[in-house]
Amino acid sequence: MSKTIAVIRGDGIGPEIVQATLRVLDSLRCGLDYRFAEAGMAALEAQGELLPQATLDAISACGVALKGPLTTPIGDGFSSLNVELRRRFDLYANVRPAISFPNTKARYSGIDILTVRENTEGAYLSEGQTVSADGETAQSIIRITRRGSERIVRYAFELARRKGRKKVTVVHKANIMKTTSGLFLNVAREIARDYPEIACNEMIVDNTCMQLVMRPEQFDVIVTTNLFGDILSDLCAGLVGGLGLAPGSNIGSGAAIFEAVHGSAPDIAGKGIANPCALLLAAADMLDHLDLVAQGTRVRAAIRATLAAADPRMTPDLGGSGSSERFADALIERLQTRA
Ligand code: NAD
Repeated sequence: MSKTIAVIRGDGIGPEIVQATLRVLDSLRCGLDYRFAEAGMAALEAQGELLPQATLDAISACGVALKGPLTTPIGDGFSSLNVELRRRFDLYANVRPAISFPNTKARYSGIDILTVRENTEGAYLSEGQTVSADGETAQSIIRITRRGSERIVRYAFELARRKGRKKVTVVHKANIMKTTSGLFLNVAREIARDYPEIACNEMIVDNTCMQLVMRPEQFDVIVTTNLFGDILSDLCAGLVGGLGLAPGSNIGSGAAIFEAVHGSAPDIAGKGIANPCALLLAAADMLDHLDLVAQGTRVRAAIRATLAAADPRMTPDLGGSGSSERFADALIERLQTRA
């Protein structure tokens, strides 16, 4: 089978980690072809636009994109290119795995939490944000819809079923935000009935923060609204050692974009020392999405084995003295010996 994916190299360290990631993907020989497209500063410089139509067309045509981090220049048209991509493709589900890896500076081991965040509504609407003429009062709208809640909760339960997960925790604040969070919670209760084999519990968001810090092992899949999901997924990334190993996927009905959670890291761009693992883990999730589950599992296993061995070819942020490319060499070597 051959499948073409759109690849956006991105800005800053983007081209370095994309290059390393594609080399690892190529070593799997799983029939992936790449259609390269530009976005961000690279696109602005080459084509005079931050998000060219050709890039949107490439994502639409392929249905799947692997994306390096993008720099959004301050003061230009979009508030964020990533938000714009979510809007254009209605990427309603943001999925962020937080997995413990060996030999990292993490507070806990044995964590494997999937946060599923609603990505299109809630408190993150661009419309309806007002400030009174005297500047004394600011207002914004929170909008939750039955449709938006249904599709994200169903996505979380389907994901749990596909991955053999045992429990979904619905995180809310319905005790105070009775209308918006209340609607989300009621819809979640209805949907949960369709998945009797998966345990479902409910937790108020403030308690969830405390529970995550004190007993993270009780969590399996978390599903929640936009703002809570934004905060909780970063909290989960912190539990397992931060951004270097944090992938994220943005899923819609017609397109899916896989990326690292971190940004373009201008402080280390061009030095060749960026850690490619977050993007590689995103690529592994992309392989799962493409029904190449065995290959995705192999990539994660190679990363785990490389970290467990404290391979010196790892990048400095993980305690190695290597580079993005040497890290990729170490991973490819492991993938080939286990092929
Ligand atoms: P950042 O994530 O780029 O960097 C934060 C710190 O983490 C820096 O010290 C950086 O060197 C380090 N770091 C990040 N990724 C690393 C990696 N793979 N290996 C080793 N070290 C790494 O955050 P920032 O500095 O706040 O943002 C820089 C730019 O990235 C901004 O323009 C921002 O808008 C953009 N950004 C883009 C995305 C995205 O496209 N998904 C996400 C976040 C930020």
